[in-house]
Amino acid sequence: MPAFETLAVHAGVHPDPETGAVMTPIYQTSTYAQRAPGDHRGYEYSRTDNPTRTPLQRCLAALEGARHGLVFSSGLAAIDAVLNLLSEGDHVVAGDDLYGGTRRIFTQVAARRGLSFSFVPAQDAQRVADAIQPATRLIWVETPTNPMLNLVDLRTIAEIGRSRGILTGVDNTFASPYYQRPIDLGLDIVMHSMTKYINGHSDVVMGCLMLNDDDTYGRLKFLQNAIGAVPAPMDCFLALRGIKTLALRMQRHGENAARVAAWLESHPKVERVLYPGLPSHPQHALAARQMSGSGGMITFFVKGGLDEARRFLSAVEMIALAESLGGVESLIEHPAIMTHASVPPEVRREIGVHDNLIRLSVGIESVDDIVTDLERAFASI
Ligand SMILES: *Cc1c(COP(=O)(O)O)cnc(C)c1O
Repeated sequence: MPAFETLAVHAGVHPDPETGAVMTPIYQTSTYAQRAPGDHRGYEYSRTDNPTRTPLQRCLAALEGARHGLVFSSGLAAIDAVLNLLSEGDHVVAGDDLYGGTRRIFTQVAARRGLSFSFVPAQDAQRVADAIQPATRLIWVETPTNPMLNLVDLRTIAEIGRSRGILTGVDNTFASPYYQRPIDLGLDIVMHSMTKYINGHSDVVMGCLMLNDDDTYGRLKFLQNAIGAVPAPMDCFLALRGIKTLALRMQRHGENAARVAAWLESHPKVERVLYPGLPSHPQHALAARQMSGSGGMITFFVKGGLDEARRFLSAVEMIALAESLGGVESLIEHPAIMTHASVPPEVRREIGVHDNLIRLSVGIESVDDIVTDLERAFASI
């Protein structure tokens, strides 16, 4: 099996048989000519399949070490497909510290279709096991979590699911397949918001699911077509292009984040830093066991409250104050007001999303310039 760096460049893609074009063409077409009714070359209609999408799906599967890959028009559309594997009356055990939109689709969309959810602190795997009911059909976790950077022990979660015949799924967006490969650890389904690290250039919204089981794949492939939340050919082209540098980008994100995290930890205006690569992280040992690096996301508490956080965030210059993460450029945001505003205030308090909490997506710029910009912002408080 070629190395990750090689797969990122080559997996799933071949020179175009007709022209020799080395890069996958953008097949900007909705339909395909058939020789006779039903006699086609594998492509009938672009909701079902598209030749720019197919190599992307194969490449993603290779990067996660999975047999199958499917892409969707957003990360949430990918999660919606997983939820559509379930039926009215089914129960889901989910981590309580999830991307805000994930919690929203669970509680405000899927709950209305008759699914029920138990949210537990999944960093304690025993709490996950204890929340299982006879109707539980899915365990859904995120690791590292957004924004608290808690880790979930994936081997243990996989074992809990396997021993009880419950499907397990993980949102691997924060780690990317470069730093964490949940299929190897026994998880059934891996999901990504490709909008973040996988595409990596903040110019596409897309999601994906990777898995081994042929039967579940068949059902998800059916749902991809039946629901129709598929990405456009141009976006698939951009994602394929972004993926070619995934290994290089993740390496740099990781190096920069490690330096920024250590710098923040020693800063007099910082109360606490959460980064799995720091020895002070409560699950530092688990990070070393299940991840090959800690990634580019850092969460920290500034000393003070909302006022200090606001002033700090308004003073950065190079780093954009924006939602999202995982792009080549550094981004910073205030979870309580921005990404996690849809999470009820009492839940935010419970999981620790306080008003002095700041989330930083460390880009691939010069780390010195990132630190300079942060130092300038600290000077304003
Ligand atoms: C952004 C994000 C999502 C949602 O993905 P979209 O592409 O925005 O639909 C899900 N999980 C995590 C961890 C995310 O960061």
